[in-house]
Amino acid sequence: MAAISAITSLLKKDENILLCNEVYGGTYKLFKTLLPRYGISTIDVDATRPKEIAESITGASRMIWLETPTNPLMTVLDITAIAKISRAHGLILVVDNTLASPYLQRPVASGADIVVEGTKYLAGHGDIIGGALATSDEALYRHLKFVQNKAGAVPSPFDCYLTLRGARTLHLRMERHSQNATEIAEMLERDSRVNEVNYPFLSTFAYSSTARSQMRLGGGNLSFRINGGFENARRFIKSLKLFELGVSLGSVSSLVSHPASMTHRSLPGDEKTKLKITDDLIRMSVGIENIGDLTEDIRGALDAAFEIDVAVPQQ
Ligand SMILES: *Cc1c(COP(=O)(O)O)cnc(C)c1O
Repeated sequence: MAAISAITSLLKKDENILLCNEVYGGTYKLFKTLLPRYGISTIDVDATRPKEIAESITGASRMIWLETPTNPLMTVLDITAIAKISRAHGLILVVDNTLASPYLQRPVASGADIVVEGTKYLAGHGDIIGGALATSDEALYRHLKFVQNKAGAVPSPFDCYLTLRGARTLHLRMERHSQNATEIAEMLERDSRVNEVNYPFLSTFAYSSTARSQMRLGGGNLSFRINGGFENARRFIKSLKLFELGVSLGSVSSLVSHPASMTHRSLPGDEKTKLKITDDLIRMSVGIENIGDLTEDIRGALDAAFEIDVAVPQQ
């Protein structure tokens, strides 16, 4: 968040940011509650339709803010297409690359001006909070460096050490995260108790061709909808043994979360429906454990969740 707020210092009073749907909750709150106090506003856009971005740009627009893939619905945005629009209007294109990590996706190569790299995957062990910014523009670099130094939100030496140490195995972990998540996504897709599996590289996923054009692999996160709504979602999550309940992502250990009652709990009901963050939605951040153990855990938890439906009537 320190890295993200450093970027906001590029904006001046009366300017606006075009903000894609479903951004990280912290970013959303910073942009919607703090920035307006400085006269900076946001325009919400459906960035899956780049034309809508182009049509929403005003004379006061200064920046386009994307996150791809998004969390928890894994929506993939076409960075190259949006970069063309951004450049044509002289805007700064920012891409939050936290879910993909620099191993799976290089937004600068696709035309982004600034990339936010969360340390969730870079460090990879679920034990530090940090972030980095990457840019190929010398003037932006100098400004951001100045803000880092003068505003002073910098990580501790120990957090830097853990991040650098973790980064040495980034490529190995991302390969394994992606391999495990792909197998789980395909398994869930075949299961009739589950519907709508969201995973960037799943061939039936609406954004899979865009994902394949800009990502090396699908990454470690996926979401799906379980039949039977909240009650079955709750039973499924409670029955998992290897997947720990948690809202974070990117760790070597698998996590499961229920967005409607956790990360997106404070949203009003109709807003949840509009964003498709409903009670049946489950998100998984798949770790690097043995895939057989993970699939067995998921199968067992699905069986447990649906037990009542298949139970033989008592004599
Ligand atoms: C976690 C996260 C952040 C912010 O990370 P902090 O650890 O809160 O600084 C930003 N963007 C995305 C997409 C994230 O998942």
